[in-house]
Amino acid sequence: MTSSTRRDAPPAVAMGGVLVSNHPLVRDKLTRLRRRETEPRLFRELTRELSWLLAYEALADARLEDVQIETPLAATTGSRLADRIGLVPILRAGISMADGVLQMVPEAQVWHLGMYRDHETLQPVAYYNRLPRPPRFDLALVLDPMLATGGSALAAIELLRGLGIRRMKFLGLIGAPEGVRRVQDRFPDVPIHLAALDERLDEHSYIVPGLGDAGDRQFFTA
Ligand code: URA
Repeated sequence: MTSSTRRDAPPAVAMGGVLVSNHPLVRDKLTRLRRRETEPRLFRELTRELSWLLAYEALADARLEDVQIETPLAATTGSRLADRIGLVPILRAGISMADGVLQMVPEAQVWHLGMYRDHETLQPVAYYNRLPRPPRFDLALVLDPMLATGGSALAAIELLRGLGIRRMKFLGLIGAPEGVRRVQDRFPDVPIHLAALDERLDEHSYIVPGLGDAGDRQFFTA
């Protein structure tokens, strides 16, 4: 497709249940994010912008309530978000995603969740968990840029379910079919919003073509 081609595609396409954004801004920004030469400052900025755009799509069904206001001319009925939103960025790569979503939903609660993969069991272990009990929100957005094997996403969703949180969505930048399938099989009621669904995982569980290590690229630690 050339730059002058008119696009009639819907803003998000459901691919086997996962919602992959088809928005021109998302596709343009994701391509810039993927490029090898994109340096950390721009990488973080693009991650924030992409997360903002994905959250815009993911919150399209958020609940509203009526609110009475006065404009300079008249009293009128408006709307305000009735859902209390919680953001659960998975450390460390989810940090810039939370920054982006907070620009749009500044009143959201942020629960940082640190995960690492145990080398022996290969299972994700939560090493940092600031999740308040009981939870004080209605809808949780789990934020992790790369949905690769799905291990961290599953562990985070399980943890939240264990705290009684029913309504959740997963937001990631790039997913691999393997990870998407694992999350969907286990939690079919948790929608997955992505900027792209890539081809596969390589032998080191990196997404191909992907963008490399999302944490290293944000924080200059490669
Ligand atoms: N985590 C990353 O940062 N990149 C991948 O490709 C997979 C997991």
